[in-house]
Amino acid sequence: MLLTTILNQCYRFKGSIYGQARFVRHLGRQTIEVLVRPRKGSRALCSGCGVRCAGYDRLPERRFEFIPLWGYPVFLVYARRRVDCPDCGIVAEQIPWAEGKRHLTSAYMLLLSRWARRLSWREVSRAFHTSWEQVYRSVEWVVQWGLEHRSLEGIRAIGVDEIQYSKGHKYLTLVYQIDAGRVRLLWTGRERTMKTFRQFFDLLGQERSSQIEFVCSDMWKPYLQVIHERCVQALHILDRFHIVAKMNESLNKVRAQEARRMKREGYEPVLKKTRWLLLKRRGNLKQEQKGRLRDLLSYNLRTVRGYLLKEDFQQFWEYTSPAWAGKFLDQWCRQTMYSKIEPMKKVARTLRSHRELILNWFTAKKQFSSGIVEGLNNKAKLTMRKSYGFRSPEILEMALYHALGKLPEPELTHEFY
Ligand SMILES: [Zn+2]
Repeated sequence: MLLTTILNQCYRFKGSIYGQARFVRHLGRQTIEVLVRPRKGSRALCSGCGVRCAGYDRLPERRFEFIPLWGYPVFLVYARRRVDCPDCGIVAEQIPWAEGKRHLTSAYMLLLSRWARRLSWREVSRAFHTSWEQVYRSVEWVVQWGLEHRSLEGIRAIGVDEIQYSKGHKYLTLVYQIDAGRVRLLWTGRERTMKTFRQFFDLLGQERSSQIEFVCSDMWKPYLQVIHERCVQALHILDRFHIVAKMNESLNKVRAQEARRMKREGYEPVLKKTRWLLLKRRGNLKQEQKGRLRDLLSYNLRTVRGYLLKEDFQQFWEYTSPAWAGKFLDQWCRQTMYSKIEPMKKVARTLRSHRELILNWFTAKKQFSSGIVEGLNNKAKLTMRKSYGFRSPEILEMALYHALGKLPEPELTHEFY
């Protein structure tokens, strides 16, 4: 069987014909070149407007990298025609297997980008004997195509969160769609200011923004404000995950302060290695840990009192009626304000000041409870960690859209992967 027979089977284009395939040494490697020529009588497409036009002349031959075969790099070799277009003037023709000035065929770029979802970009470049840059460009092309062709209609629920990158205090704002049956990354923006988040709503437009019914967020003020400003009609829900995280953070502060104080004053270090004991849900502890926790709870410590407040708060999530949940919340806050444990009091104050948004979670019938946003954000962090070379936010954004955007892909007539 000839190589061109296979190509005609899987990568055939109406206006062009595969000529012979041959071995050529290129940059010290044996490569396969397949000559391509226009089908007789076929007129070229103008790359400016896509209309068939009269030919003008031909450009020098160029190589377009195709999917490697049995260890040999494969190139399509073609001399592009130029057309004389009444609208665009004299321009190069549009070719079906590659876009614009790209050296890689679309099929190869799509293949690289799909592997780049499974392996790190570095690993893909090694596996295909190509550069990291080529892998990145391929992902970028697929992502841009996807962003241009995706639909933003019918978004009912969104969640907003941030991730920190490049060690410093640099943030990306991430907006997710969290509808049942449609969960994806919608948008990323630099920093986490009001200006950042407004850009998302600008992209979405007023009409689509007005169709949003639920918004989940943490307590970051700029987000709260923009939601208030752009999504008046939506039910704004403070995410359960963020509240639990805040509670744990405060309890851990109490524990650390007290452990230091006890050490200073020469007490037995009973709080040593108790961090996870106190932060984990009691039901998730192992038998041995449960024993240690029981011992710890017998001490009269601020940490223990803080822990009991935190555990008590778990009940809050069990309510179904917003009114009863509200009563519980008020009671809990009152009790905590009496506790004289400053970090816990701070939690109570925060909960009080966001009372309505927190109770919205019950009004929304707990639909957005299972930490969808948290799960997505964990995936985002994983994407960031999995690959190196994400020093620049542009590249990180590409990687995030690629991994979490569920973007449509350019369609080929054959699945090479
Ligand atoms: Zn034209």
